[in-house]
Amino acid sequence: MAGESVDEFGLIADLFAPLSRSYPGAMGLTDDAAFMPPVNGVDTVVTMDAMVAGVHFFPDDPADLIARKLVRVNLSDLAAKGAQPFALMLAVAFPIGISAQWARDFARGLAQDCQDFSVALIGGDTVSTPGPLTLSLTAFGHVPAGQGILRRGARVGDRIWVSGTIGDGALGLLAHQGRLSDPDGHLLSRYLLPRPRIGLAIPLRGVAHAAMDVSDGLVQDLGHLCAVSGVGARLMADWVPLSVAARAVAGDHMSTVLTGGDDYEILFTAPPSADTVLQQISQQADIPLTVIGQVIDGAGVAVHDRDDRPISVARTGWRHFSADS
Ligand code: ADP
Ligand code: MG
Repeated sequence: MAGESVDEFGLIADLFAPLSRSYPGAMGLTDDAAFMPPVNGVDTVVTMDAMVAGVHFFPDDPADLIARKLVRVNLSDLAAKGAQPFALMLAVAFPIGISAQWARDFARGLAQDCQDFSVALIGGDTVSTPGPLTLSLTAFGHVPAGQGILRRGARVGDRIWVSGTIGDGALGLLAHQGRLSDPDGHLLSRYLLPRPRIGLAIPLRGVAHAAMDVSDGLVQDLGHLCAVSGVGARLMADWVPLSVAARAVAGDHMSTVLTGGDDYEILFTAPPSADTVLQQISQQADIPLTVIGQVIDGAGVAVHDRDDRPISVARTGWRHFSADS
């Protein structure tokens, strides 16, 4: 055990309670539960993501960045639903012997993102575990009633769009593992600190037919969206937007780009009639939006190369990707 150890109640009162102040129903984290006042004409959207040391992050990643990633992966889910975040609930299972300094750094990261994204920490639970550090965050967002964007709305003829760039997070993981060179640190920074596309939440309401955030790999996630919508997709591999850093290594790592995950971009479908408004949205939000394919009749995701030849994609990656191309 290194240094001062963690005290549950001190931690809650000193480090977490200040993050609850903007939300009266949290009662400063002094009660058994928080109260959420009803808001007329508004749907409350709820999502939860858990992260485990050694699975979702490296145990010695900076504690503040672990906290911020935890917040951001959840806010990404809300943004994809067209919802604006307002509150978080946090469950932490600390390994026995974690230092008080670690907890302070973690709380500092949490505080920063609570402030940057205007959300309050309204409750949670703090326990110890003989296992690895385990974190679970629940995020609450609001969207005008009935205007939330679902996965199940894609229609045949829609274009398939994605925000930002794809692959940086998954390539950043390879860089973190020392398996890839990342000269300017861009890929690693995208792995450690995703940028949830909060700025698209409001503009995509009423424009996107269906949306989800890309966390588990573009091809697989698009497959989920298509399955619940009862449609198929043609995905043009060559149209998938890559950062400069990703482009530099994509030749050897295209399967990682398309199936690796950790992107936290928004994947959505919209009819061609929305092209102009989507260009305006992209400019106003300063977030690139790129067409990567089309919704078609049928089922499953058909991936095509630049010569429009179908590419076979294994669950874990590409097969035949580089064949004669
Ligand atoms: P209980 O014994 O009922 O579980 P606790 O003593 O664990 O209550 O929690 C006291 C207060 O502190 C509650 O408001 C709870 O929501 C809050 N709390 C505990 N752990 C956390 C945490 N990790 N993040 C935010 N709030 C927390
Ligand atoms: Mg209680």
